[in-house]
Parts: sequence; structure tokens; C-alpha cells
Amino acid sequence: MEKFRRIGILTSGGDAPGMNACYRAAARCCLARGIVVYGIKEGYKGLIEDNMKLVTSTIDVNNLINRSGTVLYTARCDEFKTEDGMQKAIAVCKKNQIDGIIAIGGDGTFRGATDLSERGIPTIGIPGTIDNDIPASDYTIGFDTAVNTVISMVDRLRDTCESHARCDVVEVMGHWSGNIAVYAGIATGAIATAIKELPFDEAKAMEDIKRARLAGKRSFIVIVSEGLKGFAEPLAQRIQEQTGVETKFCRLAHVQRGGTPTLRDRVMATRMGVEAVDQLLKGQSNVVVCELDGKITTVGIERALKVDRYFKGKCTPEELAAFKPEEMKWIQERSDYVKSTMQMLYTIANEVKA
Ligand code: ATP
Repeated sequence: MEKFRRIGILTSGGDAPGMNACYRAAARCCLARGIVVYGIKEGYKGLIEDNMKLVTSTIDVNNLINRSGTVLYTARCDEFKTEDGMQKAIAVCKKNQIDGIIAIGGDGTFRGATDLSERGIPTIGIPGTIDNDIPASDYTIGFDTAVNTVISMVDRLRDTCESHARCDVVEVMGHWSGNIAVYAGIATGAIATAIKELPFDEAKAMEDIKRARLAGKRSFIVIVSEGLKGFAEPLAQRIQEQTGVETKFCRLAHVQRGGTPTLRDRVMATRMGVEAVDQLLKGQSNVVVCELDGKITTVGIERALKVDRYFKGKCTPEELAAFKPEEMKWIQERSDYVKSTMQMLYTIANEVKA
């Protein structure tokens, strides 16, 4: 306990609903354990620039559990990726006697966290991204709120589609992952869902719309993940041409990042924030807090980054050869599990439809 005098908390990468709840929980947990806590502004940029605020009491972080965005702000910081930038950050930590960092963000944030840990600043990552695309964890803070936002927007589109007997092709977020799309596709009763990871049977989607229209169905929703770049808008045109159903295109875009965090995000963010502080105080470093099989646990950041690269097919033969057998087994099993879950949800989304 003596070792930890001061902990810094930052949010980095894209913002996600629940980041504030996580900051609040970690800060309050520090205060309760007699640790001085700093809120670092604008992620690693603020760390380099010594832009941080002392949390003097629980009041400093009140009314945050329900607030979206991130009150710590976020920024992308290329300087932090350089040795020079890293040394500046370490000097700022030393100057402020910060001997532990909690970094809330995505895989890029974890790369930075591992660099800090390796240079003697114990750092723990927490997955915060609306895309739920960290394969080491079953859940990332912000996903539930984002999908609920999509549901509420699409329900509104459904209302007007029903009135006017239209179809709406809705593009949802997820550059690298179709998670938001498959969950939203199921939850909005979309007639078809298309994602980057798996083949889309467009001819079948057209037939389904025509068949359902003949059976008397007035409104149709098609969900497309933004990973399929430039696909959604022309698809709307093709649907109109090939089915005769008037079809509009709608990109929900950044509205998906905002909004009051849901129950799941508030509770998960709080649990992960508390876990990160507890793990730092136990002497853990270079790990990411994860949810696995319903339990809050930790995975080594290096392992989390390896499974991410393996999952995305980015590992070089040299990297693969360097994996230890036990590590390889875990990485493979995790990757297979995430892929098979996506396959299962995608099949459901396209089989059980409106
Ligand atoms: P999101 O999934 O929302 O994009 P992210 O954490 O992956 O979140 P990035 O922009 O990739 O977002 O990374 C956030 C920050 O982490 C970067 O601006 C940079 O400061 C730091 N970072 C990213 N990659 C590295 C790296 N290889 N080494 C050190 N720091 C890095």
C-alpha cells in the first residue's frame, strides 16, 4: 500500500458512454483507500503535457455516473508513440509522484499502457469502446448504450417506414467489428443484416423483401455495419430498383457515441474501475481488466494485444512461432470463441427476421 501514493486516471481513443462512470468509481475507490488521485486530461497527450487535475474529494467526481462523453476529454497523441514522448510522460509521472496509471480505452490505449508499464510506471487498462472489439474481453464499456441508442433510433425509423410503406437501410458504427450491427439487427427485427466479417447474401435479402411485401408487410429495416465501406447507400438504391419498395439510407454516425449510459454500462464501468484500483494496489501492472464468463478478471496486456492481432489475422509467421504453446492455446480458443459467437449471432440476425 505504501508504494502507491498517487494514481492517475485517463481516457484515451474514442469516447464511450460509461467512461465517466468508470473514472468516478476508480477515483472514489482511490480516495476511500487513502490514495491521491489525478484525473489526466486528453489521454496520453495530457500526460505528456502535465495537464491533470487533483481529485480533492468525492464531490469532484459527482454526477458522473449518468453522464456520457468523457469529462477527462480524449485525444489521439502520436507523440506518445515515440520514445521521446514516452520519456516526457514518465518525467511528468515522476514529477507528480504518480506511481500508477489507469488507462480507459481501446487496443491503441493498451499499447501505450504496456509501453509505460515496461518503463517502470505500473499501468492497468480498462476496455472502453462502443464497438465491443477487444477479443480478450467479453465486454467493453459503452457497447450496451450504443446498441440501445441504435435500437431507439431504428424504432423511430420503423414508425415512419410503416406509415409510408418504406424500407430504411441503416449504417451503424464498427470499423473493425460487426458487433453493433448483429445485435441491432436482431433487436430491431431487421429483414437483413450485413457485416464485414461474413458473406452477405444480397440476392436472398431482395427475395425476402419481395416475398414479405407480397404477404402484406409494409416496413423494412436493413442494418449494415460501417466496416463495409461505401456499401449501405448503394444497397438502398439497389433495393428500391430490384424490389420496388421505396428505400431510404440513414447513417446514424456519432449519435451512437453519446447518450446516458445504460444499467449494464454503469455497473460494468463501476466494477471494472474498482477492479483496476484493487489490482494496482495488489502490485499488478501491464494487465487489462476484462469480463470473461461473467467474471471480472485480468488478462496480461501483451496477451490481450496478441489475441487481438491473431483474431484480425495480423500476426506474422515469426510472431506465431514465438507464442508459447499454452499461450497459443488460449489465444486460439479465445479467437475461435469470439468468431463462433459472431457467426451464431449473424445467422440468427438473418434467419429470425421481420
Ligand atoms: P478506439 O478503439 O476507440 O480507437 P484506441 O485506444 O484503440 O480506441 P487509438 O487512437 O488507437 O485508440 O489509441 C489511443 C492512443 O493510444 C493514441 O492516440 C496513442 O497516444 C496511444 N497509442 C496507440 N498506439 C500506440 C503504440 N503503438 N504505442 C504507444 N502508444 C500508442
